[in-house]
Amino acid sequence: MDGQDAARSTGGKASEQVRREVWVRSGGRCALCNAYLLEGPMSGRTVNLGELAHIVGRSTGAQSPRGGHPLDLARRDDADNLMLLCASDHGEIDAPGGLAAFTVEKLRRLKQVHEDRIRHLTSLGPDRATTVLRVVGRIHGKEVELSRQ
Ligand SMILES: [Zn+2]
Repeated sequence: MDGQDAARSTGGKASEQVRREVWVRSGGRCALCNAYLLEGPMSGRTVNLGELAHIVGRSTGAQSPRGGHPLDLARRDDADNLMLLCASDHGEIDAPGGLAAFTVEKLRRLKQVHEDRIRHLTSLGPDRATTVLRVVGRIHGKEVELSRQ
């Protein structure tokens, strides 16, 4: 693993607080494919598969994906500029072919949609459990057959 890969997989200089914020906002799932990122699919064991991906690259250099965006350098390791992704999606958005498809605006929108969905789903407490209602009536004067199953 060279220096660039190491920086990519760890989210650069993001603090522990920022890392925690991104993980919680994303529900431990990839913001693009929704894969659960704390369990190895082959081992079934707890494995950290998440990577913090920069939307606007960490530096302004040409080697930094989307790094030419005018976002202030001091804000590039903020939670708002980091997405929790699986390694496959992280690699794709930063690959030469992926850069054209995954613009800063598109990644920001996808991150927001995912994080809003996670927040909504995790806000549903036990008082919001589903209850099945069975309502039986007549249609055109005839009884309707509706089994309990
Ligand atoms: Zn993914």
